[in-house]
Amino acid sequence: MKFQQLCVLGSTGSIGESTLDVVLRHPETMAVYALSAYSRIEELAEQALVTKAKVVVVPTEQARTRFRQAWAGGGAGPEIRIGAQALVDTVLDAEVTTVMAAIVGAAGLPSALAAAQAGKRVLLANKEALVAAGGLFMRTVRENGAELLPIDSEHNAIFQCMPQTGRATAPTQPAAGVRRLLLTASGGPFRTTALDKLAGVTPDQACAHPNWSMGRKISVDSATMLNKGLEVIEAHWLFAMPVQRIQVVIHPQSMVHSMVEYEDGSILAQLGQPDMRTPIAYGLGFPERISSGVGLLELTTLGRLDFEEPNFERFPCLRLSFDALKTGQAACVALNAANEIAVDRFLKQQIRYTEIAPVIETCLERITGLPYTALDSLDDVLALDARTRDIANELCLLKT
Ligand code: NAD
Ligand code: MG
Repeated sequence: MKFQQLCVLGSTGSIGESTLDVVLRHPETMAVYALSAYSRIEELAEQALVTKAKVVVVPTEQARTRFRQAWAGGGAGPEIRIGAQALVDTVLDAEVTTVMAAIVGAAGLPSALAAAQAGKRVLLANKEALVAAGGLFMRTVRENGAELLPIDSEHNAIFQCMPQTGRATAPTQPAAGVRRLLLTASGGPFRTTALDKLAGVTPDQACAHPNWSMGRKISVDSATMLNKGLEVIEAHWLFAMPVQRIQVVIHPQSMVHSMVEYEDGSILAQLGQPDMRTPIAYGLGFPERISSGVGLLELTTLGRLDFEEPNFERFPCLRLSFDALKTGQAACVALNAANEIAVDRFLKQQIRYTEIAPVIETCLERITGLPYTALDSLDDVLALDARTRDIANELCLLKT
């Protein structure tokens, strides 16, 4: 395996921490060049010490001061860069071979896109980048010879079950012989909660995912199943698959991470513990298999695997996502941006859980009613994203 130098964007998050855990198991084949964090600067200083990172990226001057105060390694410490542009610049550094895109939200789009543009190996956890700019992102991967490895567990599972080419590129049409992609979903913490109780659920209840430990935004997305909606859009772009050939299946045990259905009637599935270090190790090691620190999946203690149809009345955000993908890119940008605002306001207890879907739906109506814009550049996408956020914030204020 070629030696890899990593830039881990969002290193203090749930995916970032799991990434460093895997990387540190393989000192002979990989090292950390750069780390980035938006908050938890003391943790970032600790990570930089342990990984011997050369560069860290923080959001502000104050964060730089906090990093310096927290630095316990003596000497000058790593180079500290500041701001969103520094994320892009760091990805572009010649030393970097591999970028883990694990910033949460559309804030991660410019740096993920820069990694594709620079032709690096891109380990993509940041699904919002594909939802907001899937066409642009995939084209950029293709045109610059980047390697794209999906880290989202479902997409990583599908990638593993696809006809193997030994290459990780951006396809322009569905793989030959594949009939459908079957995306599994746990159903989240409210799969069986009485519908009339949902208006009263708290952020902590929404974040208490039954099987996965994740950041708070994606945890709420899993509760509403908007996460699965984002993943349908992500699968559409990653595998060039029409929406009609993507099915969502509720699978409460979260052991089958997703499946590929073939024309001959075969279904291939990838199973494993719900631990993100497995897909991360797959992305880092590709095309080889490397150890991840994840334990075995004991099928005999698991006993059974259940599958059921999702209910759109319980999970209106899933229906909105399918509709957005059918409507087009502006709707996908709006879906994602409106959701980021609504979830943030729900986490701050400014709107109710059951108000998340109506906020998104109203934003979608307003945005898709606007004259059509092409959205083929990053600036166009970010402008529509910002406009949707304004509308969503106004709608949320009306509800507080
Ligand atoms: P998290 O909230 O735990 O971590 C997010 C990271 O991004 C942190 O390091 C944070 O400091 C940084 N960040 C936040 N806002 C930023 C901004 N505006 N600019 C720059 N950096 C910023 O999130 P997570 O659970 O690790 O998820 C990260 C991404 O991976 C998300 O897109 C999520 O959908 C995706 N993902 C996560 C999981 C999981 O198991 N956690 C699984 C699949 C996909
Ligand atoms: Mg997922």
